[in-house]
Amino acid sequence: MYGDVCRDLGVEFKRVGQYVCFNEAWAKPIISAYVWKRKHIDKIEDSEIISGKELHRREPNFNGRFRFAISNPSTGCVCPYGLTIAYAENAVMNGAKVMLNTAVTSMQVENGRIISVSTNRGTVFPHIVINAAGVFSEEIAKMANDRFFSIHPRRGTNSILDKKAGRYMHSVASIKELAASSGHTKGGGILHTVHDNLLIGPDAVETSEKENVATNPESIEKVFTRQKNTMPVLSERDIITYFTGVRAPTFEEDFIIEKGRKCENIIHCAGIQSPGLTTAPAVALDIEKMTVEMLGGAEKNPGFNPIRKPIPPLRNMSDEERAAMIEKNPDYGEIICRCEEISKGEILDALNSPICVPTVDGVKKRVRPGMGRCQGGFCSPLVTKIIAEYLDEPLNKVRKSYDGSVITYGSAKKGEKADE
Ligand SMILES: Cc1cc2nc3c(=O)[nH]c(=O)nc-3n(C[C@H](O)[C@H](O)[C@H](O)COP(=O)(O)OP(=O)(O)OC[C@H]3O[C@@H](n4cnc5c(N)ncnc54)[C@H](O)[C@@H]3O)c2cc1C
Repeated sequence: MYGDVCRDLGVEFKRVGQYVCFNEAWAKPIISAYVWKRKHIDKIEDSEIISGKELHRREPNFNGRFRFAISNPSTGCVCPYGLTIAYAENAVMNGAKVMLNTAVTSMQVENGRIISVSTNRGTVFPHIVINAAGVFSEEIAKMANDRFFSIHPRRGTNSILDKKAGRYMHSVASIKELAASSGHTKGGGILHTVHDNLLIGPDAVETSEKENVATNPESIEKVFTRQKNTMPVLSERDIITYFTGVRAPTFEEDFIIEKGRKCENIIHCAGIQSPGLTTAPAVALDIEKMTVEMLGGAEKNPGFNPIRKPIPPLRNMSDEERAAMIEKNPDYGEIICRCEEISKGEILDALNSPICVPTVDGVKKRVRPGMGRCQGGFCSPLVTKIIAEYLDEPLNKVRKSYDGSVITYGSAKKGEKADE
């Protein structure tokens, strides 16, 4: 489904292909049987076994000692937050309402039905609640008196490498060490992103802390030690940033996509750990079907438009296209982020998009200023200024992301007294 979804939503999606690499020649017959099953029973028809020599021809920087690999040419790569924002914007264009910074705190349930949902920003009276709260989905289920599962959070740390390392490989790759295989993860890998960086990781560490997104040097070290077996040229010196996410597995390690058991107007979409992003468009169809059933039918929106026009990325334009764009909108001629070649025009377009998030991180996740080598060292003061001008507020009102994450203190405009 991804090709169609990303075309309609104007999201970059590349079928970069995947290699699962093996050192053990003896394992080839067993793995060949597995690939046969993928091809003929699971219908992933392009799966094949390739020799170590062929692998090295395709990805010359990979370890030359690999004996063979599984090749999955249709494996794709997408920007996960870019896709999420695109889906949300398209929903808003078609009439949906989004409430940002809104936390569900409790529910009023009567006779097995949710009557109202309390949030930090008021009360909602829903026909149906869809519980897609990630690591907190068990808390939402509990509020609805419908908790029959538990979430066991698992942290994972990824490193992003400078674009110059993007030249080292052009696919998704992982090494399968048969002796060291663990049950629930491939053990991370190397991925050439749609933005031409390399992404290394993640690891998998059980935790009791659902919001602990701290990064530890041991995680990065462990992942690099492993992935250097796949591609020896990898170097920690190319890391430009790193981050941690927390997966939301259930005890059974399976998705829960079902109607409430004791509550009649809730649908759970819980335990969505990896490959939760990959499966999202398909899961959405199941949720849609259940929702329509639960409502006893629903009318289609006759004006639904699946097409979203993306903000045109200057960095991908030819000289002629740039000249035409700048002619039309001179703000596209002012480069704000030099590492990623992001113009003022793109930043203003992001601020004027269907879901405006006027923070430095909000703009960063939409059009990428600050995502490059210098990580915002040069451009974030300029982005802050553009946001302040857009909001018509002093600089010290502009936030990095959450409430209170102010960037500048003191008097912002000449003669004006700052809040702090
Ligand atoms: C390190 C890592 C690597 C991954 N790699 C891959 C991969 O390669 N491929 C892949 O397909 N998947 C991958 N995944 C999995 C994928 O990211 C998740 O499965 C997916 O994001 C889950 O989506 P979700 O919408 O269910 O939950 P989330 O994305 O967690 O969204 C839940 C939302 O609910 C909100 N929320 C929670 N509680 C409340 C409340 N009380 N009130 C209001 N809102 C609330 C949260 O703020 C959040 O926005 C990876 C995950 C991690 C952590």
